[in-house]
Amino acid sequence: MNVFKGIIDGEIPCDKILEDDEFLSFYDINPKAKIHVLVVPKEEILDFEEVSPEKMKSMTAFIKKVTSKLGVDKTGYRMITNIGADGRQEVPHLHFHIIGGERLSN
Ligand code: AMP
Repeated sequence: MNVFKGIIDGEIPCDKILEDDEFLSFYDINPKAKIHVLVVPKEEILDFEEVSPEKMKSMTAFIKKVTSKLGVDKTGYRMITNIGADGRQEVPHLHFHIIGGERLSN
């Protein structure tokens, strides 16, 4: 079972930021910066290659609610999604990393 499915189903705890019917966001357990948050769809979607443009439309709106709630919409942030083996995706469930809260290195 992928760990994010466990979080979505409430079987694994998370430090939640925002949730609606379709999406969930929570803090990364191994933060790479002062703010490191993940955004996932509740639907089981493997990665960015598998997501529909329609789903991405609502996911984009949700991500902007998250960045606004975190305040990084004003200060800037890095958004990353890893895909597959070469992308070193560890969890096989679409997720966007939102990383910020400080000036990141190059
Ligand atoms: P990726 O390499 O893009 O698949 O990243 C997976 C991310 O999930 C990593 O940054 C992990 O630290 C994070 N992660 C793994 N397990 C958990 C968990 N139980 N709660 C929060 N974040 C997690």
